[in-house]
Amino acid sequence: MSRTALVTGGTRGIGAAICIALKDAGYKVAANYAGNDEAAAAFRQQTGIAAYKWSVADYEACVEGIRQVEADLGPVEVLINNAGITRDAMFHKMTPQQWREVMDTNLNGVFNMTHPVWAGMRERKFGRVITISSINGQKGQMGQANYSAAKAGDLGFTKALAQEGAKAGITVNAICPGYIGTEMVMAVPEKVRESIIAQIPVGRLGEADEIARAVVFLAADESGFITGSTLSANGGQFVV
Ligand code: NDP
Repeated sequence: MSRTALVTGGTRGIGAAICIALKDAGYKVAANYAGNDEAAAAFRQQTGIAAYKWSVADYEACVEGIRQVEADLGPVEVLINNAGITRDAMFHKMTPQQWREVMDTNLNGVFNMTHPVWAGMRERKFGRVITISSINGQKGQMGQANYSAAKAGDLGFTKALAQEGAKAGITVNAICPGYIGTEMVMAVPEKVRESIIAQIPVGRLGEADEIARAVVFLAADESGFITGSTLSANGGQFVV
């Protein structure tokens, strides 16, 4: 029996690589996205994976979106909280809106998505919740007080929920990617990107597939003893 996996922000970047890797591993996969219909259409065409539009920042929309996915593919047994945004600014210039938008997607979005699937996972005595945090949630990054705070919050959430889910066969883990060559990172000015690469011991940006590989590992039925963990995948840039 193949399990159903739902990947937020699954139509581009790291999320798209996760969807493809899970599909290749035999899962029934649904991708969520926020609003880029063009990217979603291209993704659908290339992968044959269904894409569903709603914002993870909106709790009611998550409940309705998950209901639709479950009607189409069956109960969500594997949830990948991958959707994320940046609104970078030095703190003295950061607006309340920049703070709120990042919190709403990167931290509240994780609650909004996990809460509606939690009861079903508890009843079925199986679940996998994997949240894509960030190296910058581990170490902090100037210009990203909002993003670093939200991503660090994701790690606290993961550690607490892992304890709650353990007896019900639900594992809850986080992955902290370093810098991966997606649109999010390619949007950074080239000079800044070069200075980032200079700080990565392996001497290059990571690839989305390298994060997807870690997701497939944690999602597996055989990974049931791994819970509450933070898996760093950062080319050696930050060693906890
Ligand atoms: P991208 O910007 O390439 O893609 C982001 C995806 O998230 C898109 O599918 C986008 O949908 C979706 N999304 C954004 N906001 C929402 C929302 N409110 N509701 C639903 N979906 C949303 O991001 P990456 O692939 O680079 O990043 C993926 C995750 O990995 C993020 O959480 C990010 O913080 C994290 N990360 C990335 C790193 C990197 O180097 N790239 C490093 C460390 C962590 P749409 O296409 O509709 O806009």
